[in-house]
Amino acid sequence: MEPLCQRAQVSCGACCGLYNRRELSRPAVHALLARRTAALARAPRTAEGFRAASISLGAEGEDSLFPSVRVCPLLGFLDAAETRIGCLAHPLATGGPDLRDCGAYTAHICEGFFCPSHAWLSEEEAALAAEACAGDPYLYGLVVTDVPFLKAALGAVAALAAAKVERRHLAAAGFRRSLSRLLALKEELAPGSDGLFGAFRAAADGEPLARTIDYTALGREAGSPYDAILTCVGADPRSGNDLDALEGEVRRRLEACAAAFTAAFP
Ligand code: SF4
Ligand code: SF4
Repeated sequence: MEPLCQRAQVSCGACCGLYNRRELSRPAVHALLARRTAALARAPRTAEGFRAASISLGAEGEDSLFPSVRVCPLLGFLDAAETRIGCLAHPLATGGPDLRDCGAYTAHICEGFFCPSHAWLSEEEAALAAEACAGDPYLYGLVVTDVPFLKAALGAVAALAAAKVERRHLAAAGFRRSLSRLLALKEELAPGSDGLFGAFRAAADGEPLARTIDYTALGREAGSPYDAILTCVGADPRSGNDLDALEGEVRRRLEACAAAFTAAFP
């Protein structure tokens, strides 16, 4: 599969620590990336220059959500329009030297790491995620690292539209917008929600751990027809999300997807 990290339409920086902060709202993350990008643009393109910038940026006092997971100060915007994020220490960004040893890991580790989504997603699913999140790395990183969510969302749309969702269907702008809105559920969850980090819940053998919503404990007699999506986004009291409100939102966005699909492909 083509790597998920830098696709033609969008890029991801999740494993460089993009979301590992208490204040992980879209504006806060954008401001952080812009600050780092400006600082690194002023740094000499040498190991000494980048190491000093990395230490200085790292000392800004990031309030990380998972202290044991590293946050790399060398992740920033790759383009002036701030639509693409990536490693500012990579030779393609520096224009020559590989300065990734100055970051949170080593160049060797950065080069060789591929998150589990690379094994769990098909190329078609990966392409659908990239096209639905085109130009929006904040959303893409949340979606592409949560394989069960992406699969459940695509499966639910297919069930309602009575057709498998394929990459070619995203040429229809209305359907692409609706699918993007469905996937954006990932960024609209209650602060601290488990659902934001679904993909990184893994069992000891590295396979995803099944999570369940205890509907009975929530006073419901039956489960939800959208259980797979709701489970991925953490629709339980522990997550801080409201099950009924989230279920209604999932239904509305799925129905919008199905309507847009049928309108474009009758
Ligand atoms: S989290 Fe996965 S897709 Fe994102 S940059 Fe890291 S390896 Fe690439
Ligand atoms: S140096 Fe490594 S961890 Fe840091 S931004 Fe680059 S790829 Fe990510």
